[in-house]
Amino acid sequence: MRKKIIAGNWKMNTCLKKGQELAEKINLYAKSNTNIYAGIILGVPFTHLYKIVNTVDLTKISVAAQNCASEESGAYTGEVSAGMIKSTGANYIIIGHSERRQFFSETDEIIAKKINLCIKNELFPIFCCGESLQERNESKHFEVVEKQINTGIFHLDKFNIEQVIIAYEPVWAIGTGVNASPGQAQEMHEYIRKITSEKYSKAIADKIPVLYGGSVKPDNAGELFKQPDIDGGLIGGASLKADDFIEIIKVV
Ligand code: PEP
Repeated sequence: MRKKIIAGNWKMNTCLKKGQELAEKINLYAKSNTNIYAGIILGVPFTHLYKIVNTVDLTKISVAAQNCASEESGAYTGEVSAGMIKSTGANYIIIGHSERRQFFSETDEIIAKKINLCIKNELFPIFCCGESLQERNESKHFEVVEKQINTGIFHLDKFNIEQVIIAYEPVWAIGTGVNASPGQAQEMHEYIRKITSEKYSKAIADKIPVLYGGSVKPDNAGELFKQPDIDGGLIGGASLKADDFIEIIKVV
């Protein structure tokens, strides 16, 4: 059975002190409770990585960056490489978030390069995909997500694909307060598992975690995570409030 994962995406929020306080609260909860059934990942700003890696109990909580450069090293002022992220002790990188696609013009091809750099540096990518509202209204959501997945991760071989966590995040649900219904999310997760099974094998598709992201809150997490193909969540807004994030962890 796949273990459920609850991953926070803090985005460009919290200064270092506030971020550390948030991580400390979640760490305290994770350390003092033996009945936690979810893997916990905190997706924090680059500036916080090293500090938070050294704040949390890494046997209970993993730390993720939210992006990496598409090149390995060199004259790319302001960029942060996958190797640099690895050197902080972080283990995951969120790749291809819709905000990066939308505001920083990340294409599926750029995302595929970043995925390769994660694998090369032994970091687990949390690969994000999802359709816009217009694409859903035009019934193109399966086609759009399939293309993102095909170009973004399906070039990986059968060993490396198992390092990937997929996060289905419909763009219309991110930060809007309107989550996909459990039925809508399950339908897409089932589709993602089906295409993964066709590309690799059923055994591989059954192992890959597929998280749902988009306005997950303590009061809707239960119904979403009950769906057979939803393996937890990528949580934005609610991951910035320790109590809400912990409530979501408790749902699992
Ligand atoms: C996200 O940023 O990945 C996200 C899902 O945000 P929110 O939970 O705020 O919709």
